[in-house]
Amino acid sequence: MDNCLFCKIAEGTIPSNKVFEDDTFLVFHDIQPAAPTHVLLIPKKHIANLNDATAEDLDMISKLHKIAQETAVKLGVAESGYRLINNCGPDGGQTVHHIHYHLLGGAHLGALTG
Ligand code: C5P
Repeated sequence: MDNCLFCKIAEGTIPSNKVFEDDTFLVFHDIQPAAPTHVLLIPKKHIANLNDATAEDLDMISKLHKIAQETAVKLGVAESGYRLINNCGPDGGQTVHHIHYHLLGGAHLGALTG
């Protein structure tokens, strides 16, 4: 989609520090890490947010969980644990309108608060 930052990252027109890529998904390091390990998992297909995901999209996105498992192993946080987060819409704190999941770890993360 035109003017979508994460579509441009997925296409490679904006560079990213990639952890994993296949035809459907990309995992890359967040530019403003909120934890020692902080990567973003995105489908390459433009879906604005979880509300917009069709049943078919959700089948595709469910595969992100497998990639999250593998990413956690690759980045050395699987055993210590990590957090997988999707921010949806304004109250969810979503700032980039291309669905993505944050994988955070490498430190003991506090309880979720507003
Ligand atoms: O869930 P939310 O939409 O707030 O997350 C967007 C994330 O994208 C932020 O953590 C931000 O640091 C990250 N980002 C990035 N590279 C950019 C722009 C934003 O990693 N060029």
